[in-house]
Amino acid sequence: MVKKEKDNDYELLKKELLNGNKNGCLKIEQKQITLSDKFSEGYKEFLDKAKTEREAVKESIKLAEKEGFKEFIPGKKYKPGDKVYYNNRNKALTLAIIGKNGTKDGVKLAIAHIDSPRLDLKPNPLYESNNIALFKTHYYGGIKKYQWTAIPLALHGIIVTKSGKTIEVSLGEKQDEPCFCVTDLLPHLAKEQMSKPMQKSILGENLNVLVGSRPFKDDKGSELVKLNIMKLLNEKYGIVESDFLSADLELVPAFKAQDIGFDRSMVGSYGHDDRVCAYPALKSILDYEKVPEKTIITILTDKEEIGSDGNTGMNSAFFRYFIADLADMDSVHYRHVLTKSQCLSADVNAAFDPTYASVYDQTNSCFINNGVVITKYTGSGGKYGTSEASAEFMAQIRKTLDDKKILWQSGELGKVDAGGGGTIAKYVANLNVDVVDLGVPVLSMHAPFEVISKIDLFMAYKAITAFFN
Ligand code: MN
Ligand code: MN
Repeated sequence: MVKKEKDNDYELLKKELLNGNKNGCLKIEQKQITLSDKFSEGYKEFLDKAKTEREAVKESIKLAEKEGFKEFIPGKKYKPGDKVYYNNRNKALTLAIIGKNGTKDGVKLAIAHIDSPRLDLKPNPLYESNNIALFKTHYYGGIKKYQWTAIPLALHGIIVTKSGKTIEVSLGEKQDEPCFCVTDLLPHLAKEQMSKPMQKSILGENLNVLVGSRPFKDDKGSELVKLNIMKLLNEKYGIVESDFLSADLELVPAFKAQDIGFDRSMVGSYGHDDRVCAYPALKSILDYEKVPEKTIITILTDKEEIGSDGNTGMNSAFFRYFIADLADMDSVHYRHVLTKSQCLSADVNAAFDPTYASVYDQTNSCFINNGVVITKYTGSGGKYGTSEASAEFMAQIRKTLDDKKILWQSGELGKVDAGGGGTIAKYVANLNVDVVDLGVPVLSMHAPFEVISKIDLFMAYKAITAFFN
């Protein structure tokens, strides 16, 4: 309750009773802004090195090993302070620091995803038509298809031959390497295309990727451009056409992460969703210097963009198995560990965009530069397809962030009936864990080039660190 003598003081009452809506930059010290700028340099490097889930796992392991993390061996007895990582199929990574109390009082989890929307190659990708060789693709995750035409794309992934040899592919990132693209129709002939609804103007089946145009020199035979491309692929990678059947190949935007704005306050890049949370979640555990009370765990998971199913997604038992392995060490049942555990589902939210103001509820949106965003529930319609953080857990998180003077805000995705989306929160909450979404506001989410604020990124790092403490 506000003290009686302040009853008539407008300024004081406003300060004590209302949330306020100042730009976040004005609420923090210059030192925090400088630290944000510094932190974003490491993040940009990570973005360029980790464009796919496999590359993110590889890069994260490299960073983790430098900090003394060792591969987890189930059944081995670990002591407080031990740092371990568990690599699930090179697509999802779990890192943990064993706490003084182990798992007995539950664990603290920060979970982010490292898959992003993209174009995957179909199992039989290569074909030739009218002097042009193309790859058939199948898009992955929620994309606006028109955004993926007429931009430079790079090919990333692996091919495993029948003999078991793994060939790593990364082509189109360096200036002297060839890249690829999806063609679009010239406006002069696009009268009909442009009159169609956006959803129908570019079809998924038409996201074909240009990969060559010169034929194999021969007088007879057909599909000579295709043959020539296959010959080049055979020379470069030693593969034959059927090897595409055992490959995970992804086309991602070929651009590099880059500062945005005259004030360099933002970063533009492919794949902020959700590396902008994965990187802070990773750094928070790598930079952790003490021995925690409870075991702390960062999970970088795969398949979030397509519903978290599959053996590397958060719906997979790999998460429960890992908790069970830790629980066995302490002779407790893993279900009791989960019941006492708490989790930050570290995922992005939609930053308010003044150009598209009509889809946002301004009083419940998150804004660029106002700090890390807490989302009590996601989902769509009448709170379908989501978990909701309890008032009790929200109160605890609020206090943690305020005590550490971390710039934060709350935010819903958009207007109630405007659409919606989910995160991994509900899958973890379904295991009887307290979960809340915490992440970074993103402009142009799911576009080939997304935008975030450096301050918000740094506040996510500070928030996850504070939660682990
Ligand atoms: Mn996400
Ligand atoms: Mn997403």
